[in-house]
Amino acid sequence: MSMQSPITEYLADIIAATNHVDSGAVADYIPELGAADPNLVAVAMSTVNGTVYASGDAEHRFTIQSMSKPFAYALAIETHGLETVLDRIGVEPSGEAFNELSLDPETGKPRNPMINAGAITTHSLIGDDEDACVDRMLALFSRLAERPIEIDEVVAASELETGDRNLGLAYLLHASNALRQDPRTVVTGYIRQCAASVNVRDLALMAATLANGGVQPNTGERVFSRMGTRHLLSVMTSCGMYDAAGDWLTTVGIPAKSGVAGGIIGVLPGQVGVAVFSPRLDAHGNSARGVEMMKLLSDDLGLHLMEASRPARSSLRETRTTSVDGRPATVYVLQGDLVLSSIESLVRELIDNPPPTELVVFDMSRVDEVLPVARRTSAETAAKLIDEGHQIALIDPENTIPGFRDSHGRAVERWTSEHMDATDR
Ligand code: GLN
Repeated sequence: MSMQSPITEYLADIIAATNHVDSGAVADYIPELGAADPNLVAVAMSTVNGTVYASGDAEHRFTIQSMSKPFAYALAIETHGLETVLDRIGVEPSGEAFNELSLDPETGKPRNPMINAGAITTHSLIGDDEDACVDRMLALFSRLAERPIEIDEVVAASELETGDRNLGLAYLLHASNALRQDPRTVVTGYIRQCAASVNVRDLALMAATLANGGVQPNTGERVFSRMGTRHLLSVMTSCGMYDAAGDWLTTVGIPAKSGVAGGIIGVLPGQVGVAVFSPRLDAHGNSARGVEMMKLLSDDLGLHLMEASRPARSSLRETRTTSVDGRPATVYVLQGDLVLSSIESLVRELIDNPPPTELVVFDMSRVDEVLPVARRTSAETAAKLIDEGHQIALIDPENTIPGFRDSHGRAVERWTSEHMDATDR
């Protein structure tokens, strides 16, 4: 089969389907961010086995901004233990904008680690001085993304010049003894943490590590503990999208975090990490087109946490070679729900080990449900197989994939299981 995976093509479709979304405006309170090309767009995903798929401006680098906050928080928990961190930073959604000048009036603590007050406090917990904090964060990002991550010094310098609000927050925190270093030092370090330069591929891998319970899928390194990861994902779910958290949880329904450069990461525990990028922001400071892309991904991929859980075992139960009417055939026996992670492993198998026979049969008798992403991906896969000279037949007695055609609209033959039984075994 040709090199382009149907999953990559699916991601290209997500970009095309949101082409009309041009609402919002590029952040300009950090002057350098205002210089971003508003038409850049990218999407990437990584399954928990570490394969990254990406489309659009996937190599374009932008600053991580607030998407750094969850990783800093998780690192603080690994360093000091959950209790110490909870003593200093709450876990309640604030319902406020990310840079609100507020602490919880009852506890005097930042309400959560995803708003700036909490993130500045978190940053100060990472190390003893500015360099130590920033170096540890960069080392962490690099382990997660499997490449050396560096700071975009131009963006960092630009934000430092206009960082009065964050400085104000830091002085407020300092007044209640919440910081381990002086306010200027912490804010400088925090702003540098936010200026780490990444692309959607990096972010997808970082998110996939969280989806994988804290273990980087490719290196196998345990970066965060299982409990720390669970705690972090809970906080991302309730607080990650600021004052849009309720709308986000109901429509997209996965733990997520956005950044003002236009990125959003999302995590479906046990399955997949996703990342989108588009610089124009809505009124909440979340990427407007990014939110639309995430909604489509969530619907198509069945990502919403409150959907009945679908076990992510492989959809390929077995592969058999047999003969039908005297012709050699390869039979793929599929099973369970065809969700993103299960269809992904099947598609990869078909690319890595193309079927050796002209005749290819997909036995869907044991398949329960086919999600939209699996249907689209299967249609692309069928088209590739047909283009390469294969003849395809489906055995689908329960009609789990009604009216199935390949992505060029060509009908695919349907056989009954008797058809097979009569001819082989
Ligand atoms: N560095 C930015 C700030 O503190 C991050 C904000 C964000 O991405 N929401 O203002």
